[in-house]
Amino acid sequence: MRQTGGVIRNYTAIVLKAVPYAEGGAVVSFLSEQGERMCGVAKGVKKPTAKWVAAFEPLGMVRVSFFGKEHVELKRVTRCELAFSPLTLGHLESSLVMACLADLFDRVAREGVEDDRLYRLLSACGRALKADPDNALGILAYAEHWLLHCMGLLPHPRVCGRCGNDQAPLVLLSPEVGWCCAACTPVDPREALPPGSRDFLRQLRTQGAETAPRVDPDDEAQRVITALLRARLLQELGGGLRSYEVLWKSL
Ligand SMILES: [Zn+2]
Repeated sequence: MRQTGGVIRNYTAIVLKAVPYAEGGAVVSFLSEQGERMCGVAKGVKKPTAKWVAAFEPLGMVRVSFFGKEHVELKRVTRCELAFSPLTLGHLESSLVMACLADLFDRVAREGVEDDRLYRLLSACGRALKADPDNALGILAYAEHWLLHCMGLLPHPRVCGRCGNDQAPLVLLSPEVGWCCAACTPVDPREALPPGSRDFLRQLRTQGAETAPRVDPDDEAQRVITALLRARLLQELGGGLRSYEVLWKSL
């Protein structure tokens, strides 16, 4: 469809972040079905309806229309309809995790770069959150693991990256060679990864978001691996994700 010099394009997408912009409007970022980050200006409306507001909540799956000339940087959002919301009203932890996921994907996804794995991962996490909001933290850890994988920063844990051993326990994650095992890498036992680390990584790899391992404070391998992967991811993204600060303060 053509309007004066511009084109309307429709997308299936997930809302990432909405930043307030002139006169009650917002600059909204989306993750398209093709896994590309897209941005548009939603003009302010005098009396925002609940429907309008809900359409721009983080992690909502929407049908969105952009209008703009081919090479104009910031296109206009002319329509945004919510198709599915992962939100569970009154569930604080789930809402905070949704904000973290929106922040993460907003940083990882790129304009002009398609990676449909990102869309599949985020939509799976959204559906899992809706189905089981009590497992929000487990789903966050699951997403962090797969984001690192998508970014090419997470080697396969099946064999040691240094010696190829597939039996000896993993003791550390090295930036150069990946997971290292006890057979080739001497590590102070107090600093080594806990027993069961490989099994936990295998669980993350083989299960879907809806069966993401639940957070178990007594599971040391889970605790250590989750912290390790989270620190690696946030370091890669340059840190400073406000949503994470809010999450830790609130729990
Ligand atoms: Zn080894």
